[in-house]
Amino acid sequence: MKLDATDLRYITSEEFRVLTAVEMGSKNHEVVPTPLIVQISGLRNGGVNKYLGELAKRNLVAKVQNSRYDGYRLTYGGYDYLAMRALSRRDSMYSVGNQIGVGKESDIYIVADNDGKELVLKLHRLGRISFRAIKEKRDYLGKRKSASWMYMSRLAAQKEWAFMKVLHEHGFPVPTPVDQARHTILMEFIDAYPLRQVSDVASPGALYSILMDLIVRFAHAGLIHGDFNEFNILIRRETGEPIVIDFPQMVSTSHMNAEYYFNRDVECIRTFFRRRFDYESKLYPRFKSTLKEGGAQDGEAFRLDVMVAASGFKKSDQQTLEEYMNSLKEPEDGEEGFGSGSEDEESEGASEESSAEDENADGEDVRERAAAEASQHRARQQRKYH
Ligand code: ADP
Ligand code: MG
Repeated sequence: MKLDATDLRYITSEEFRVLTAVEMGSKNHEVVPTPLIVQISGLRNGGVNKYLGELAKRNLVAKVQNSRYDGYRLTYGGYDYLAMRALSRRDSMYSVGNQIGVGKESDIYIVADNDGKELVLKLHRLGRISFRAIKEKRDYLGKRKSASWMYMSRLAAQKEWAFMKVLHEHGFPVPTPVDQARHTILMEFIDAYPLRQVSDVASPGALYSILMDLIVRFAHAGLIHGDFNEFNILIRRETGEPIVIDFPQMVSTSHMNAEYYFNRDVECIRTFFRRRFDYESKLYPRFKSTLKEGGAQDGEAFRLDVMVAASGFKKSDQQTLEEYMNSLKEPEDGEEGFGSGSEDEESEGASEESSAEDENADGEDVRERAAAEASQHRARQQRKYH
């Protein structure tokens, strides 16, 4: 999908009001009835229809003819636009460049700030898979997929942001976080190759140790990356230093399946080094002893998992997101898929920051609906695979 930078600046304030009205309306309407858009926007009826037409032409909203009523829904493009506009109004970004990555659940763009400095914009696309050929999933998400993708993608971005910040503040090799809005995060551009593309390194043993040490450092801080593989490790072009990215699936070492995730991260690295560099070592971290030595070493060991929970990304949000992400995943061989579990740490507390212009807080109904969808789907998956 092309992101048009000029669009960021050229939208009238009325069009913007109508666009946000559609966004607000989609919290509890799959298709937002036109009269509701008029009401929320507080503009005259005739005007709103014209603005909706303009927005539809630019694919920011889409007209939907429903059996019961006609209305509009916010498109991916519209949601992207709102997020990028918020970032641009805060002077965090100015223009959009090339797309450098497209994952199953995200799109990655190079963007620039006011000084022309390159940054990376990651747009989360959770639930995009529901638009693909997996019939059961589509049936399940059914009419409500719109609110789900927006809500879940925003949760994923908020989670990734919370982790990236806390990791960066504690000296972990991750991109510098710059800003976050809706379903997007803005971060430092790393001039690097994914480890996946690296066929030769001066000393595989040295890199192997650095990566295993990182897994251990994460664990000593109460965290497991959960997707620590050759795609999510970038090797800086200049220095060869590994930088870790992609945090929506991070879990606490107190997670009920922590050991499984920890071992999977370790195995990913071992397998990759064996295949790619023909390098094998008897030395690799074990979960229990790693946790034990971590506690013994730093008497007042910091727990980043606890800090994230306290940062405003709620435990309940974490669970909703985890269930949803698990429910979208195809079970791997030998993996039964398990419940979301619950972490021990305290959470709740910090208030959500939001303003009408930037983020508009989702209503409880969306939250509940999304949680219910996720757990219903899980139940189905489990019936299917057990
Ligand atoms: P996904 O969740 O889709 O896997 P990632 O965060 O792993 O998304 O990013 C996908 C790809 O985009 C990465 O493999 C990497 O090539 C590129 N990328 C992501 N973030 C950055 C960054 N900060 N700097 C440079 N490249 C990046
Ligand atoms: Mg990735």
